[in-house]
Amino acid sequence: MKEKIWLSSPHMGEKEMKYVQEAFATNWIAPLGPNVNGLEHDLEAYLGNDVHVAALSSGTAALHLALVILGVNAGDEVICQSMTFSASANPIVYQGASPVFVDSEETTWNMSPEYLEEAIQDRIRNGKKPKAIIVVHLYGMPARMDEIMNIARRYEIPVIEDAAEALGSTYKGRAVGTFGDMGILSFNGNKIITTSGGGALISANEEYIKEARFLATQARDHAPHYQHSQIGYNYRMSNVCAGIGRGQMEVLPQRVAQRRYNFDFYKQALADVDGIQFIADPGKDFYSNHWLTTVLIDSDEYSIIDIQDALTEDNIDCRPLWKPMHMQPVFKHCLYYGNGISERLFDKGLCLPSGSNLTEAELNRVVARIGEVVNVKKSFKNIANNPISCVTFALVTALTMFV
Ligand SMILES: *Cc1c(COP(=O)(O)O)cnc(C)c1O
Repeated sequence: MKEKIWLSSPHMGEKEMKYVQEAFATNWIAPLGPNVNGLEHDLEAYLGNDVHVAALSSGTAALHLALVILGVNAGDEVICQSMTFSASANPIVYQGASPVFVDSEETTWNMSPEYLEEAIQDRIRNGKKPKAIIVVHLYGMPARMDEIMNIARRYEIPVIEDAAEALGSTYKGRAVGTFGDMGILSFNGNKIITTSGGGALISANEEYIKEARFLATQARDHAPHYQHSQIGYNYRMSNVCAGIGRGQMEVLPQRVAQRRYNFDFYKQALADVDGIQFIADPGKDFYSNHWLTTVLIDSDEYSIIDIQDALTEDNIDCRPLWKPMHMQPVFKHCLYYGNGISERLFDKGLCLPSGSNLTEAELNRVVARIGEVVNVKKSFKNIANNPISCVTFALVTALTMFV
């Protein structure tokens, strides 16, 4: 068996152990401490725009707290991009609210401003004005934030940006996650940088972040004893994990550069292959971290399954795109506004190995394997389409069987 090529695996720099060792040396093995403060500070400096950051146990926890802080409750409706990972939508249900899913648009694969507005208008007509909008920067690609924020402001609905996959991406030169009322990041093991598990809540509104820190540490009132006036959560990041995060922040620019390099590499190497399309930044306003390189396979000669099978056989990790939420069994009763764009993307899309630690040899191995599938399938197809070679092919096959 050839050595495994991962889709997106953790990639440590040089300083992570130093921060973790500091945590041990000072016995700050707690969900609080100097590394947590340090990581929050590093993120605030990196994101700019005067945002405040709370480091939390996961991106999912950050989304959940954002909804709690915005007062989303049982019976409410929250608009959510359909084309995403389930963690974008699950916290809506934790609150007893209902997701209303909105389709993607073609250029970014993210929330369609057109269907967003249609959904808002229709829900208002039904007496159910949405409580919040969750927009996702999928695979690192910034969503059309100008259009989305304009609509949200016009109807006075708060926006939460799910930037779990998009640390390092910018829209009009500004970090994604800083446009909405709140934004979230994830530092799960497969994301662009990792704390082994972790996340963050971002907001320019310091009150939101203070409230998030309060809620994330069991909502303890200021009192000499343990007193609670609100339901709290255990959602803070550990000081050990935050140490990993501080080390990772020091190499973030290199990680973004490498992921973007992977994208360019694949795009160039597979440029001549009919039926493979790349999603590039749709204009100078968009700067994707290209967390994962994704392709659309649209060919009569080979299928997405052919490529997936061949890569898997070669011990190369690959993965279909996220299956839209409105197609998921668990959400099938939910409302959906759209026109089948996310469905088509799901049908044709594939994520290629995209880690920042891939070697040139590994990238070449992936490209070579795809090239093999495409060529084999193509020549088979040509034979099948040509009566004379069809006969030759049958003869050769028959002969080979007898030999
Ligand atoms: C990873 C991810 C999350 C969840 O983050 P966790 O830290 O794993 O909880 C949410 N949304 C999207 C789009 C993600 O990719």
